[in-house]
Amino acid sequence: MLKLDIKKAITEIKKKNAKTVILQLPEGLKGKTLEIIERIEGKTKAKVIAVMDPVWGACDLAETEMKEFNADLLIHLGHAKYTDSKIKVVYVPLEYSVKEINLDKIQRMLENEKIKKVGLLCAVQFYNILKEIEKGLKKKKFTVLLEKGGEKIDCKGQVLGCDQSSAVKIEKKVDGFLYIGDGFFHPLGVAVSTDKKVLAFNPLNGEIKDLVEEKNIFVRKRYGSIARAMNAKVFGILVSRKKGQLRKELALELKKRIERKGKKAFIFSMDFIKSEYLMGINIDCYVNTACPRIIEDNLNDKPVLNPEELFEVLEKI
Ligand code: SF4
Repeated sequence: MLKLDIKKAITEIKKKNAKTVILQLPEGLKGKTLEIIERIEGKTKAKVIAVMDPVWGACDLAETEMKEFNADLLIHLGHAKYTDSKIKVVYVPLEYSVKEINLDKIQRMLENEKIKKVGLLCAVQFYNILKEIEKGLKKKKFTVLLEKGGEKIDCKGQVLGCDQSSAVKIEKKVDGFLYIGDGFFHPLGVAVSTDKKVLAFNPLNGEIKDLVEEKNIFVRKRYGSIARAMNAKVFGILVSRKKGQLRKELALELKKRIERKGKKAFIFSMDFIKSEYLMGINIDCYVNTACPRIIEDNLNDKPVLNPEELFEVLEKI
């Protein structure tokens, strides 16, 4: 079950006497948009404007809407704080709860993999469940480690698709990691950034999965993209205008380095990076400076590199 503490938002709106409020919701909550607006407008004097563009993380704050509507407060649902902002933001994370957690199954899987010292990780929406699992595993005599990573990270054990620092910090102290959440984007990032076994437990369906195969496929695909990029003559550097993803200096630096090798490089700025927006442009290879999820997208069948992979290519050509 998904729990949303909208009371926190209502209290903040009243406290700040906000008249106009911008509401950002993750995709999974869009179906509840009207209900949430009616609850807020019914309990406060504020008018609510809901942003319907997709939002995948707190890297993407609706600053433009705040300015355009001269709004007093941004209510950002579903994600924890990621970056500082001049606008007033109330973060209202979602929390999953489940009737029961099959700890015996987790124990068996950890024991099969000879993981006695386990690093616990989660998506922020599963933090409560992580705490329950931590308690349960300690009772079963596992050594459990949790660490809070860099400044983008809000709580111990949290990882993002773009930040695995909570895992990297404890990599040398653990035999392996147990990630708690749904989907593989976050734990795959951990599997790729560390040399330890990563098991992903999805409390919503009780499944637990070793990510070794996903990691191998991912790495093979990355090698494939790097190999294809070796022959590229024209590069497109992708920059997102989303506040937490905008890396303009990096984009300019990449352009300089590509041109130094006698290749062409063009910088493309977008809010949301989508292959449709790049149709008809004659590019051999893209370099992504925004959310790392984009390297997995099919951008008109062209290879997409991250900056580190580009450096590797430039060294070899
Ligand atoms: S950049 Fe991507 S992975 Fe990082 S917080 Fe934003 S949406 Fe999530």
